[in-house]
Amino acid sequence: MTDLLVTNGRVVTQNAAREVIDDGAVAVAGDEIQAVGPAEELAADADRVVDAEGGAVIPGLVNPHTHVSDILLRGSFAEDRGLLDWLYNVKRPGTLAMTVDEHALAATLYCIEAIRAGVTTFVENDTEVVWDDWSTIEAKLDVYDRSGIRNVYGAGMVDRGADPEFQELVRDIQAREPGVDHPPLELFVEETDTVVDEVASLIETHHVPDGRQSVWPAPVVVPTTTNRCFREAYALAEEYDVMTTAHVAEAEAEERRDISSIEYLRNVGYLGERALLGHCVQIDAGDVRLLAKTGTAVAHNFMANMRLATGFAPVVAMHDAGVTVGLGTDNSILSDTVNPLSDARAMAGGHKGFHRDPGVVPAQTAFDMLTIDAAAAIGHADSLGSLEAGKQADLVVVDLDHPHLTPCSDPVFTLVHAAQGFEVDTVICAGEVVMAERELRSFDADVGDVLSRASTAAADLVDRTGFE
Ligand code: FE
Repeated sequence: MTDLLVTNGRVVTQNAAREVIDDGAVAVAGDEIQAVGPAEELAADADRVVDAEGGAVIPGLVNPHTHVSDILLRGSFAEDRGLLDWLYNVKRPGTLAMTVDEHALAATLYCIEAIRAGVTTFVENDTEVVWDDWSTIEAKLDVYDRSGIRNVYGAGMVDRGADPEFQELVRDIQAREPGVDHPPLELFVEETDTVVDEVASLIETHHVPDGRQSVWPAPVVVPTTTNRCFREAYALAEEYDVMTTAHVAEAEAEERRDISSIEYLRNVGYLGERALLGHCVQIDAGDVRLLAKTGTAVAHNFMANMRLATGFAPVVAMHDAGVTVGLGTDNSILSDTVNPLSDARAMAGGHKGFHRDPGVVPAQTAFDMLTIDAAAAIGHADSLGSLEAGKQADLVVVDLDHPHLTPCSDPVFTLVHAAQGFEVDTVICAGEVVMAERELRSFDADVGDVLSRASTAAADLVDRTGFE
């Protein structure tokens, strides 16, 4: 029995042969894909039929690295700042000033934007966790659950305070914004055992094996994590059959060791198939080789790297070496959207320009980084990222009937180099219709009302935090 049939579409399967089926269909039973093939062969009597009307039917997009709450801090005050200036003068003070309700509102805004951009799975890196109170985390997880899409909550771990030299550097940066209410630098630092126990119980409470919601241990950055914490995080990932993620080698300022961050992580036992490293911009050929050798995956955050001017991650070298790389949007106030298709366009073009080689990061590779490779990077190559029988029924219909997408001889090329993201028409996750004809079906909330409440809350937050 077929519960749902998506038909009359150009089905971009992303299977091993990267097959595109013109006039194809996808049959869904329960939360799984039952069959993929020519529309005429799958004209079964389904309970519900979605007519793709010639649009592209693609796997739900997987965003392997993002941040949610700071979406309310969007605005021009984040421009012309380097990483530390942005982090310590904007993001930290802003997110720390938010109430639980504001975090939930931010999560709602985030999910609406993500769904409308075709995202069905996202990995949040919560880097500002105060562990004595779970209310913010649980308010956000409740929103994600109601959104109807999949989320991984990366539970931030910090167990090492900044050294005196770094503290002085940050104090000087903060002194440039005397009107901002800066939280104490050590606010997030916990004892190693405490943070490991907290993360373990959060996983036990909210990780749903084979469900839509998961929790990963997420050491925030190398300089604020002890070697024991990295080992414990990896051990937790093994114990609970999840992954672990960390920000690694994003900006030059954090690379102050005698050995590279990648080499350091190898030494402490954090590289391997359960590790997903965000960024990896400041790495060399030897580091790339180590990532490949250990099966460590990378989340490339192109737009954030451009906006904070941290540089070009060696994605081409990573691909050549066989490293699995997914494309993340990173902070919604950096990229400055939660929109994998628009980021892919910039990313593919950006690397061509940087390398002065139009052959690098071809459209198919870029599209893989939003789908099958992103799914592999988060440990779900067997269930997400392609349209194949037996996989989870996460699929998106993109309306190709637009002037800027015409003509379209190759949907993958068109999706990467021309689509903007707003052409997403229908989103299905785990067999449930989350958005149809651009109307959200998952939240009760009226979108216009959410946008207006978010704007009001954001203005109040900016005022309260003391931003100029
Ligand atoms: Fe990040």
